[in-house]
Amino acid sequence: MSVMADKQEKPQDIFNFDYTHDGQERPPQEYYEQVKEKFASERDLRLDYRPPGTDNYTSNLTGDLAKYAVDPYGHEVEDREALNDSVEVLFIGGGFSALLTSARLREKGVESIRIVERGADVGGTWYWNRYPGVACDVVAYDYLPLLDETGYVPSRHYAGGQEIYEYCKMIAERFDLYDLAVFGTTVISTLWDEESETWIVETDQGDRISARFVVCANGTLSKPRLAKIEGVEQFAGHSFHTSRWDYQYTGSNLENLRDKRVGIIGTGASAVQAIPELGKMAKELYVFQRTPSSIDVRDDWETDPEWAATLEPGWQAERRSRAIEGPRVSDAVKARRAAMSQEEKVRRQENANIDAMMRIHNRIDEVVENPATAQSLKPWYMLMCKRPCFHNDYLPTFNRPNVTLVDTEGQGITQINANGPVFDGVEYEVDVLIYATGFEVQQTGIYNQIIGEGGLDLNAKYSDGIRTLLGIHSQGYPNLFIMGGYQAFFAFNLTDVLNSQGEHIAECIDFVRQNNIHSLDCTHQAEEQWVQEVIDHRGKTNRNRDCTPGYYNFEGADNRRQDGNYNGTMKQYLGHMSEIRENMADHFVFTHR
Ligand code: NDP
Repeated sequence: MSVMADKQEKPQDIFNFDYTHDGQERPPQEYYEQVKEKFASERDLRLDYRPPGTDNYTSNLTGDLAKYAVDPYGHEVEDREALNDSVEVLFIGGGFSALLTSARLREKGVESIRIVERGADVGGTWYWNRYPGVACDVVAYDYLPLLDETGYVPSRHYAGGQEIYEYCKMIAERFDLYDLAVFGTTVISTLWDEESETWIVETDQGDRISARFVVCANGTLSKPRLAKIEGVEQFAGHSFHTSRWDYQYTGSNLENLRDKRVGIIGTGASAVQAIPELGKMAKELYVFQRTPSSIDVRDDWETDPEWAATLEPGWQAERRSRAIEGPRVSDAVKARRAAMSQEEKVRRQENANIDAMMRIHNRIDEVVENPATAQSLKPWYMLMCKRPCFHNDYLPTFNRPNVTLVDTEGQGITQINANGPVFDGVEYEVDVLIYATGFEVQQTGIYNQIIGEGGLDLNAKYSDGIRTLLGIHSQGYPNLFIMGGYQAFFAFNLTDVLNSQGEHIAECIDFVRQNNIHSLDCTHQAEEQWVQEVIDHRGKTNRNRDCTPGYYNFEGADNRRQDGNYNGTMKQYLGHMSEIRENMADHFVFTHR
């Protein structure tokens, strides 16, 4: 096998530090302690500037802000009559969650499936995010799901957004999901009708659809948010959010920006991909940074056709199980781990993490010519406190004469005038301002009120903390399934989680159909046990407290113990799923009609 093909064989594993191997060349421990102190002071600086938690953002994009949510690609949606009918399974959202689960349901013979989607097509995140440079940082052979079923082989090691979007449409065609789908449609209420024991789903297009099963497939990061900045509405130039890219304004190749001064607020994963493209075309580009992302090398290549030709159906499933098993650990490493105290393990893991971050710092010094800019681009936090980024053109972009990094040193932009953002008394005049300020995070029923048994709103149920079984079922909401929400495992490769949730949901629906059951609802006890399991695992690390604020740690807010992801391993999560499915009657109550 060629070197390239050999590389392609390996599932992605970017955070595998062998912390048991403490090389002689390491600096003394005091050095690591000093770095940790610097991490803590940078975090505290940011927390001091911000209102608590997510209060420094708004996703209430109404009134003057409504334009930031408008679908710029949605002109394809045709007017249609309101629906008043019934389906067996209704998906709220048409991204990978719906596509994956539908594929599994089709395998089980489920015919009546309707996707209700806000966008004008399927694809979810890949429908909305079309900003220049958009791509996925998870290896395409792992990220693109259903490759065994579709026979598709991604064209590159890291697929671009357009390819992934096209692939989503291919899945929808392949599994006949367009037939009943409705687009340009937002679900506004999902109500459990106790008499008929069905869900009544209403939309902003006047539809009233009854469904036996509802799957909340609305995505983990789907509602754009803006930073709350004084004067946002005063800005006289053009502006938009990265997930609503205005190509009419910029031109399809950004050619209209050649005579424009462009500002971009935010330097998260979206901005890191868009900035190199903007830097190439804009007359001037101002990047307003609050916290730098960590930027590592992007090891990308075109798929080797020889390797692709060797792939037999089942190759992706096999690759996935290898990834879930994790890297093989030698007996020597196992023995070293076993001999270590927990404290020692944590110390070594932290040191290895700091080494990785300092390698990222060194690369910045090598690439970025201006020493002050290089300094500003250095992230001072542990790797994985924020989504790590991989890009080969991002750092060199700051060597361009037309590009200026405005380092707000943790404070962020707090004021925007008619002419543009202001920082430290300087007004940065721009023609167009792009908000790369991210999304609401993992909120179930994000545009939608979900009312279960006894008229209880799901948000009201969650008011003392989220309560689910596996992050998928919530007691009092029969035949309703949640995907990509809290209390589920969260992986760097999100489609892995969605795939396992899709398999689980399809198995549950099949169980109901095969056993003459009408509805299933998890028991209070099963839910309680899962909440406890989530709490037990969340106590394992101090990451939430120690990390710089960002959406991974609720922007630094104290959160209730169970309101996050399940911090066991993927393998443990899958184990719990199988155990629950093997003993359905222990975890669910059923109704029959
Ligand atoms: P993020 O939430 O990650 O980033 C928001 C950015 O806005 C942060 O840099 C934040 O700074 C900054 N910000 C907020 N307020 C201000 C302010 N007042 N002034 C200046 N800056 C401000 O959103 P993204 O859209 O970048 O990414 C969201 C997620 O989407 C990613 O984490 C990833 O999961 C996914 N994604 C994946 C990609 C990939 O595979 N490569 C590409 C794009 C997105 P601060 O850090 O200080 O809070």
